[in-house]
Order: sequence, then structure tokens, then C-alpha cells
Amino acid sequence: MKTENVEYTAFCGWVDPPADVRPSLAGDLTCEVAVVGGGIGGMSTALRLAERGQDVVLLEAEFCGHGASSRNAGQLAGAPGGDLQLLDLLYRKKMPGMIRLTEHAAHHVESLIEKYGIDCGYERTGNVFAAVSRGQMGRVRRVTRILRRVGADVKLGTSEELGIPRGFLGGMRENVGGIMNPGQFTAGMRRALLNTSARVFEQTKVTDVGRDRGQAVITTPRGLVRANKVVLATNAYAGEWDITPPRLSVPIWVVEVETEPIDPARLEALGWSSRSGLVTQHNIMENYRLTSRNTIVFGVRRLERGRTYPLPQKLPDPALVEELAEAFTTRFPALSDVAIERTWGGWIAITSSWLPIAGQLDDATYYSIACNGHGLAQAPYVGSLIADLIVDGERHEDLEELWVKKPKFPRPLMMGSLGLRAIWTVDRFNDFVNGSKRKSARQKAG
Ligand SMILES: Cc1cc2nc3c(=O)[nH]c(=O)nc-3n(C[C@H](O)[C@H](O)[C@H](O)COP(=O)(O)OP(=O)(O)OC[C@H]3O[C@@H](n4cnc5c(N)ncnc54)[C@H](O)[C@@H]3O)c2cc1C
Repeated sequence: MKTENVEYTAFCGWVDPPADVRPSLAGDLTCEVAVVGGGIGGMSTALRLAERGQDVVLLEAEFCGHGASSRNAGQLAGAPGGDLQLLDLLYRKKMPGMIRLTEHAAHHVESLIEKYGIDCGYERTGNVFAAVSRGQMGRVRRVTRILRRVGADVKLGTSEELGIPRGFLGGMRENVGGIMNPGQFTAGMRRALLNTSARVFEQTKVTDVGRDRGQAVITTPRGLVRANKVVLATNAYAGEWDITPPRLSVPIWVVEVETEPIDPARLEALGWSSRSGLVTQHNIMENYRLTSRNTIVFGVRRLERGRTYPLPQKLPDPALVEELAEAFTTRFPALSDVAIERTWGGWIAITSSWLPIAGQLDDATYYSIACNGHGLAQAPYVGSLIADLIVDGERHEDLEELWVKKPKFPRPLMMGSLGLRAIWTVDRFNDFVNGSKRKSARQKAG
């Protein structure tokens, strides 16, 4: 795969930044509810609050959609992220509720696309847990049993049966969800929000969130906001203030790359007739998906921990881009001459339980981390459930599932640099063994 002329972009490959970035807050104001962070989580909270007649202010450090929301792979998942076998082992009783929540979350995003007429090329393809080896196929079968037990809508099959490329042995499709251009979806949410009564201040970085006489006091460089309630929706950036509970989440940097446009006949020859997004069953997944511009977007494979706040604006590491290119050639040998055109990365938030969480720090302050690399569905859904809680005073049963009674979080396992390196090494060892097996099978056959 060619990697000579890759464009390293500091934003994303899906859309350009908005041309109408809103001015920053200048002066003090009061409101009923303030939302901090303008990703799809914060925007959907503010949108819902405004539509339900609340006086709402949203504060965003750069522009709405600057974070993970525009940068992700656009695979709208109907199941939680993380290792589902481990989650089932640790939180067996929670699993049916989690599946219900994640399926509802995916349907919620579909309804947002429809309600606001968002043109983001959404395709209801589902996403496939794809196996690159027999070992991974065994894992897929075990995960399928878990998901079927808890009532998820899934299909197990060979690559032919699932309509996925023949470079994969087979897998399991979560039938709920699909693929989209996440930059366009996020821009559509921004447009919908700007059409409401919500007061949106972009280029406004919140530097502190405190309390004064029962109100939340939110500090920004050129003005204070006093609010009866505040929703913290800054995802991976949540650890920037004193108010943030220790270990709320771990910020992790992940990378996507996009190929040049590929001849449609060559794409058709792959056997990817379902167009389902793919996630491999490595400990740290690879993801692959088709786009409407006849490219393939793929990525992750390595996780890099953020160490200090504020999180830096980063570009992908060229060594990782090379590694992703190598993986692509193994999965799609027929496309080994295709070039990578661009690459970008973004910060995701991993919780210590690997489950989405939400809760209150006090009676005025709400937070959520609905990410774990799967927040495209979950963040907007949880955001709107928090808005409903603020208006109605009652938690929806899906919000109840992830509600944290006391904001105390254990140290996350294997999320240090050494732990992440060890997990990556196990994946590479397994890839090496599987590659050798494939080679000797080819030699025997030939
Ligand atoms: C490369 C990549 C691939 C991914 N792929 C997928 C996928 O295929 N499917 C999936 O479901 N999920 C995926 N994800 C995860 C998904 O994008 C996130 O879970 C989701 O976008 C989280 O939305 P959010 O609104 O919570 O956070 P974000 O979109 O990160 O928004 C947080 C916002 O807060 C703002 N902010 C930060 N600090 C401050 C401050 N002090 N004051 C004011 N504003 C502040 C930021 O500028 C940002 O706009 C991926 C993520 C990445 C990075």
C-alpha cells in the first residue's frame, strides 16, 4: 500500500470546519441550564433542552463538532464497546439493560437524522464483528452466544453469508446501526441547534466550574456564566477542572486513515455486498468501512494514552500509519497498490468499567461519559436523556442502567502505556502466528 503522499490533518477527513463559527462569550450572563462541550453529546442535550422550552447556553472551546464527534469512523453501533466477554463476566446482570440501551441509542440517532433531515449518507448496514483467524472466529461465536442470550439482533455467518470481504473468515453482524459520514451528521446537529433558542458560544474554553449560593458558576476567559444546572459534556477533555472526580475516564488517542478513491469494479470484486462496517476481534480492534466516495476508512490498532491536561492537538504518528497500511494489505491483498490519501486522529474517553456512565456531582452538576470508542450512538442518546431528567425530574430506565450513585471510580486496568503496549504485542504475536499458518496452508495447497 502506498504511503508516500499522505495528508496529515489536524481535524478530520469527513468535512471542513464550519465557516460560520460563533463568537466567544464576552461578558457575564445567567441561564437555567449551561452545557459545556459541543460534541454530539453536549449538542443533543442543549437541543433537547431548548426544544423543551429551557433557557440554555452551550459553551464550546473551539467549534461544535471539533472533537471526536466529527473525527470518528462513522460506524453507528448497536452494541456496547469493549470486550463483551469480559463485560459479561463482570456485569452479567447489567448486560440485557446495556444491549437495550445501545440499540435504543442507535435508533435514536436514526431518528435525529430523519427529524432534522441530516444528509450524512447514512446506510442501515449494521456492523460486523469480523474474524481474521480461527481464534477470532471462536471469539465471535462466544460473543454471539452472549448477545443472543440478552436479546440482541445479530447474525452469525461466513464472509459470503454476511456479504463481507473474503479476506475475513466470517463474523457476526449486529443488525441495528450502520455507517454514515459522522462529520456531516455532527454538522447537521450543529445546524439544528443553531436554529433553536439555545445561546451557543464557540471559541469559549471553560477554565473552571464551581458553585456559589446553590448555582453553578462557569468561568471562561472573557465572562462568567451562572446557571441553575450545568451539564459537563467534554468527553475525553473532562479531566481539566478541579471539580472532575479522579479517574472519571482515561483519555486515549486513536487514529483513522482513508484510501484514495478506488475503482468501483475493484470494490465490487471484494465481495463486500452488505457494505457493513467491520471491526476485527483483536484486543485492540482494526475497523474498516466503505464510504460513499468509493474510499475505505480504517484505523485504530494502537491506543495511546493522554498523560496531561489540557490534551494536546496531535497529528497521527507516521509509524502507526505505516502499520495500518500493512494491516490493510493483509486484509485486502487485491488492493495492495492503493494509496492512503489522508489521516487524522482524535481523543476518546475510556471509563474504568468500559461501560457508558452518567451521574451528578451535586444537585446542580450533571456529567456523562458515553464514549469508550462507541459514542456515536450513545453520546447523543444519553445527552437527550439527561435533558429529559433535568426537565422532568425523572430518570428514564435506560439512564438508570448507567447511572452512577457515587462518583468514585477505580483505577482502570491495563490503561497505562506499558499495559497498552502489552496488549498490542499480544495482537501482533497472534497476527504473526496466523500469518505463518496461512502461508504454510498456501504452500501445502500449491
Ligand atoms: C478516531 C475515532 C474513531 C471513532 N470511531 C467511532 C465509531 O466508529 N463509532 C462510534 O460509535 N464511536 C466512535 N468514536 C467515538 C465517538 O466519536 C465519541 O464517543 C463521540 O463522538 C463522543 O461525543 P462527545 O460529544 O461526548 O465528545 P466530543 O465530540 O469529543 O466533544 C467534546 C467537546 O468538548 C469540547 N471541550 C473540551 N474541553 C472544553 C472546555 N474546557 N470548554 C468548552 N468546551 C470544551 C471539545 O472541543 C469538543 O468539541 C471514535 C472516536 C475517534 C476519535
